[in-house]
Parts: sequence; C-alpha cells; structure tokens
Amino acid sequence: EEWQEQGAAVTARRETDGSGQPQTRIVKKGVKDFNFGRTLGEGSYSTVLAATDRQTLKEYAIKVLDKRHIIKEKKVKYVNIERDTLNRLTEHPGIVRLYYTFQDERSLYFVLDLASGGELLGVLKKMGSFDIECTRFYGAEILDSVAYMHSRGVIHRDLKPENVLLDHEMHVKITDFGTAKILPDPQKSGIGSQEAPGDLTDGADTERAVSFVGTAEYVSPELLRDKNACKASDLWAFGCIIYQLLAGRPPFKAANEYLTFQKILALDYTFPDGFPEVARDLVERLLVLEPSNRLPVEHIKSHQFFDGVQWSKSLWRQKAPRLK
Ligand code: ATP
Repeated sequence: EEWQEQGAAVTARRETDGSGQPQTRIVKKGVKDFNFGRTLGEGSYSTVLAATDRQTLKEYAIKVLDKRHIIKEKKVKYVNIERDTLNRLTEHPGIVRLYYTFQDERSLYFVLDLASGGELLGVLKKMGSFDIECTRFYGAEILDSVAYMHSRGVIHRDLKPENVLLDHEMHVKITDFGTAKILPDPQKSGIGSQEAPGDLTDGADTERAVSFVGTAEYVSPELLRDKNACKASDLWAFGCIIYQLLAGRPPFKAANEYLTFQKILALDYTFPDGFPEVARDLVERLLVLEPSNRLPVEHIKSHQFFDGVQWSKSLWRQKAPRLK
C-alpha cells in the first residue's frame, strides 16, 4: 500500500524572489510538530485527538488511524476516499478542512479543523428539537456546504446530524467523507461546469454505487431500490435532517433496519402536530421517491422556508442564533 505524505501550501508573502510576487512553499509537518491533548472521540478505525501546532499554537483535531487494523479490515480504499475528497473540498467554511497528512510506523495522521462544538446530533438531543430560526440557520449552512461539494463533484452519501460538526462559534463543519463518491472533476472534464451547483442534469453522477452506504434512517429510496446514489440522494438526507431538527426525531424510524427500509420505500411518514406549514412544504418537496423530482439545490435556497437567509459568505460571518 502507498500512503502519501502531504503538506499544506503556505503562501509566504514576505519572502520574494525579487519579482515582488508572493512565494508558495509547501510546509511539511510530522508527529513531533504537535502537542497532543484530549481525546475528542473514537471511530471504528480511528481516534480523534485535540492537538496544538507547537510553532503557531493553532489548534487542530488529529485523526489517528491504525495502519494494521485498516489493512486487516480492508478499509484502505475508504481512508483514501476520505483524503481525496477532503483535498478537493478546501475552499468552503462548512467542510472540515484537511491541512496535513503524515504517518509513522504504526499510524496515519489526518490534521483537521477542530470542531469543538461537537456533533449537531448532540446539541439537538440536549435541546429536544430546534425552533424555526435555528433550523433555518443550520439548514442553510448544511445546504450551502452540500451545494459546494456537489459543485466540486462530491456526493457525501451519509449526511446525518452525527456528521455535521460545529466549530467553537457553532458554525457547521461537515465531516465523514469515507463513503463519499467522487465524480469526474467538473473543472477538468468540462462536465457540469455550465450547471448550477447540485443540478440534476449531470449524467456523470448516475453511476452505480457498489454497495450499501449510509445510515438506515437517512438512506434514499433509490439506493435501496437500485443501489444507485446521485446528488439528489444527499437532498433526500437533507430533507430528513430538516424534519428531524424541527420534530426531534427522523421521519423514518422503526425497530430495525429492515422495517426502516420498508417505511422509506413506501414513503411512510407523518408530521407531528404543530410542525410549521412552510417547513412541511419544503420537506414534502424533498422526501420524494423519484430523485429527479426532488427540489434541486437552487430551488431549495429560494424556498419560502429560507426567506431572509443571506446565502454565500455573509451566512458564515453571521453570529449563530442562540439555541432554543
Ligand atoms: P466510524 O469510523 O465508526 O464511522 P466516525 O466516523 O465517527 O466513526 P471518526 O471520524 O474517527 O469516526 O470520529 C470519531 C469521533 O471524533 C466522532 O464522534 C466525532 O464527533 C469526533 N470528531 C471527528 N472529527 C472531529 C473534528 N474535526 N473535530 C472535533 N471532533 C471530531
């Protein structure tokens, strides 16, 4: 197996070669360059630790993966997908950024943005449910991030409140790209470059997914029916998340996975009393069995539910609403 070392490109503005142009140099880091701190969480193949860059004192989350375990469990492919997708998604505040990768004899290290606010699921559980204002804010940040990843040719395939992390100011950082699907780069191939982000007419994203990926409650009907995930599958999951933030529970939930799948395929869900009418209209346009009939990203952004949202940069500069 081949693990590549990777450094962050740092533009050094003061160092010039006489031409007056800023020079870019690649900064390589290793285990010795960080002070490791508390454990932030554990995955099946990884431990995530808080760490500080000794030189800059900037804080990161470092995901440490055990090489032997990954090879034994045949997860090399997923580790590479995670690294490759994160390397493609470096220009958006709503995606956890990968700064450096390195290794030692035992482990692989991914140096990531620290999301000290934890998982959106944890916050939701503490609150029970969100009001419309909070749902609009978190929904908007998730959607803006999904629009960006789709425009960069990445389908997440496992969107859920556990994979939506929050930074220290409670802004969204989407994570867990190990099961993502990478489409041919639209900027290299020309495919999709004329389309709005998330547009469904991109034929390249209808390739077959090899196996079941995702979490039962958020999995789309097309994945269950045809083993086929497309950009619109992320929008199905997005509809489930909007529902869950307001209702406090996901729309399709049953005693086991099989029964959950039955409910999804039958579009068997109801809204609790008092579920806001505008939100209901949005959810009903997302939880549509036929993926091509789901509301595309640009229409979701202009749906009445998101009235008043300042899309683009100001969304990310705004103060997160107080949770209620
Ligand atoms: P699995 O591999 O079993 O699916 P996972 O995807 O949650 O689990 P990790 O990505 O290793 O595994 O994450 C482990 C835990 O660390 C998660 O619970 C997550 O909340 C936390 N975590 C992951 N990335 C960060 C981060 N950048 N900042 C803060 N906490 C993080």
